[in-house]
Amino acid sequence: MRQTLIMGNWKMNGTRAESQALAKAIVAGLDAGDQGIAVCVPFVYLSDVLSIIESTPVALGAQNVADQEKGAYTGEISATMLKDCGCTYALVGHSERRTYYGDTDTSVAARFCQAQKQGVTPVLCIGETLEEREQDKTFSVIDQQLNAVIDAAGVEALANAVIAYEPVWAIGTGKTATAEQAQEVHQYIREGLAKQNADVAENVQILYGGSMKPENAGELLSMNDIDGGLIGGASLDAESFLSIYRSA
Ligand code: PEP
Repeated sequence: MRQTLIMGNWKMNGTRAESQALAKAIVAGLDAGDQGIAVCVPFVYLSDVLSIIESTPVALGAQNVADQEKGAYTGEISATMLKDCGCTYALVGHSERRTYYGDTDTSVAARFCQAQKQGVTPVLCIGETLEEREQDKTFSVIDQQLNAVIDAAGVEALANAVIAYEPVWAIGTGKTATAEQAQEVHQYIREGLAKQNADVAENVQILYGGSMKPENAGELLSMNDIDGGLIGGASLDAESFLSIYRSA
């Protein structure tokens, strides 16, 4: 039985005070036995947020991680640093990184490996653009993005990772994949993995991301192969984020 995971991605939003207030409001809405909830916070506020969520069910995540271990890489943040700052998770290959900052399948695989080497669980984001979907390339894009990591790290590495299927056309656009569209891709991913390693396929958490909100979360999260959500916009409001968490 896979544990559901609801993960917020705060992106480049908020001040220190706003980040602290958001973290406090999330914590205040949880009960002692809750689990499977995390927030991916801007690097500079990781420690501020950690001091609020420490000893609560909320896990800390970063939004990216360097593809190198250490050294002369000005402006980069290593997996060792993230571990040191209390991160459990790091997003790798978010479509905004791939689109605006030149992250490639190769660099995403290197980020994935760096995170795992330091015991930070990578959340591998994959997904097709609208153009690729319209050209019937969804599955080939998924294969290419996933195989880049499997080639670099081995399929077993996915036992200590999370996959997030995020159709690019649904991120921040208000357009959500229907539950059936999302399930189709999640099932495709799981069945593909099962051909290589049945245990990994059965146990890996596959999150859906793309305009998930309280109104559509219940239906998406009820699908067999959707194990949780990666939530951008709606995670900036504690009430919406908690409402999505409760529907899981
Ligand atoms: C995301 O940033 O991963 C995301 C899914 O954003 P949004 O929920 O705003 O579409």
